[in-house]
Amino acid sequence: MKTTGQSSEQNQNGQSVDLLINTLRESLLSQKASILNKSHEFKAEQSSSLAQGDEAEIASLDASNNISIHLLERDRNALFSIEKALGKISDGTYGQCEACGEMIAARRLQARPFTGLCIDCMEDQESKSPIYQ
Ligand SMILES: [Zn+2]
Repeated sequence: MKTTGQSSEQNQNGQSVDLLINTLRESLLSQKASILNKSHEFKAEQSSSLAQGDEAEIASLDASNNISIHLLERDRNALFSIEKALGKISDGTYGQCEACGEMIAARRLQARPFTGLCIDCMEDQESKSPIYQ
């Protein structure tokens, strides 16, 4: 009989990233579903308020529209980040730094799942562009 379990120590890092990615993918998919649901609900709500159409309704609809536009933009950005991360997961490139190609530390990915940069490159960018701060 041969023993094949020689590489458990070697795989430790890879396994924790795999586990992280599996958990993350599920969470991304549910976030995506809830954003899509929310925008669907909003559309249904909007068309029913429009159908009623008295002046007070229209005024409050206007105010809530402004909030919703803001929300939708935020949701759109969130969806974009989610899609990007999901795309990387299916490509097998999730967790790689976009700037230097090194693997991003699992702890960093846990804290900031949408980051595309390792801590070194992030610090490098932050020092160049104050927008990131
Ligand atoms: Zn990097």
